[in-house]
This record gives sequence, C-alpha cells and structure tokens, in this order.
Amino acid sequence: MSTTSQPRPPELQPVHVDALLQDTAPWLSCEECFERMDTYAEAVVTDPDSRDEAMATHLRGCAACDEEAQSLVQLLKGGRA
Ligand SMILES: [Zn+2]
Repeated sequence: MSTTSQPRPPELQPVHVDALLQDTAPWLSCEECFERMDTYAEAVVTDPDSRDEAMATHLRGCAACDEEAQSLVQLLKGGRA
C-alpha cells in the first residue's frame, strides 16, 4: 500500500522569524499607525523619496496595517491617474 505524501507547511525562514519577533512597540502601535496612515499613503504617492521610518518599520512587522496601507496607496494612485 502506497502512502501519499502530505503537503508540508512551508518552513519558517529566518527572515520571517525576524518579522514575527520584531518589536514594533518603540515605533508605533496599530492605532497610531492607523492615525498616520492617510498622511503616510499620501506621502508615498506624492513623494516617492519620502521616508517614514516609524511607519515603514511598523508596516514591515504588521501584515494587517501593511495591507491597509497598500490598498490606501493604490486608492490614492487611482484617484490621481
Ligand atoms: Zn499594525
């Protein structure tokens, strides 16, 4: 009798562990992130050279806010096209 191999969950890469372990507390909470998101997204769209390290760090470690920011950026870009 043959056994079919089960799909294995992808192994955690060090980069993912880093992201999970990253402490965003010194930077922004999700609440603060949301408050600044409009400004951040606008800056990303209008000034590609702009850097907001606090936001960038939070978004690197927080998929939920990152997704929100990405869709907001897309929305703003669409509105300007
Ligand atoms: Zn967040």
